[in-house]
Amino acid sequence: MSGNITFTMIKPGAVQNEHIGPILSMINDAGFRIVAMKYVKLRTTQAEVFYNIHKEKAFFKDLIKFITSGPVVAIILEKENAVQDYRKLIGTTDPTKAEEGTIRKLFAKSIEHNAVHGSDSNENAIIECNFFFSYSEKFAKDGNCMSV
Ligand code: ATP
Ligand code: MG
Repeated sequence: MSGNITFTMIKPGAVQNEHIGPILSMINDAGFRIVAMKYVKLRTTQAEVFYNIHKEKAFFKDLIKFITSGPVVAIILEKENAVQDYRKLIGTTDPTKAEEGTIRKLFAKSIEHNAVHGSDSNENAIIECNFFFSYSEKFAKDGNCMSV
């Protein structure tokens, strides 16, 4: 079941530029099902945990500043081969190199402000879903909605 779930976040720039609707539409058209979704603003300490893997990188400080600069939309998506298919839909990290018709090509301003996040493995997808939601395998399997 873990291969059927991915986590995405529509980042502050895309939210501010009113791209939530068009991005959700592309996600829908590509055959992903929204399992959970919320509109939230990350605190600095939370963003540092979420992007902990990049803490040694030169761009880390700017990444945290950007991701906490406004609300994001956090979403759990379900589809067969979700992680790989979603990364294909969003395109390469650098939008100038992203394939035509991908979310980043269409909506990203730059590599720093690159519109969306997408999990890079099944293991990280579960970790990231749990960061934002009380996600469980059973919940996904049943296809139910989450209780508040
Ligand atoms: P994400 O994790 O957001 O889905 P990604 O997996 O394609 O993106 P990562 O290498 O995980 O890329 O980088 C995380 C984020 O850090 C990117 O979304 C981007 O905003 C930023 N980033 C990555 N590489 C660079 C870079 N060379 N310069 C500036 N920012 C970068
Ligand atoms: Mg990544």
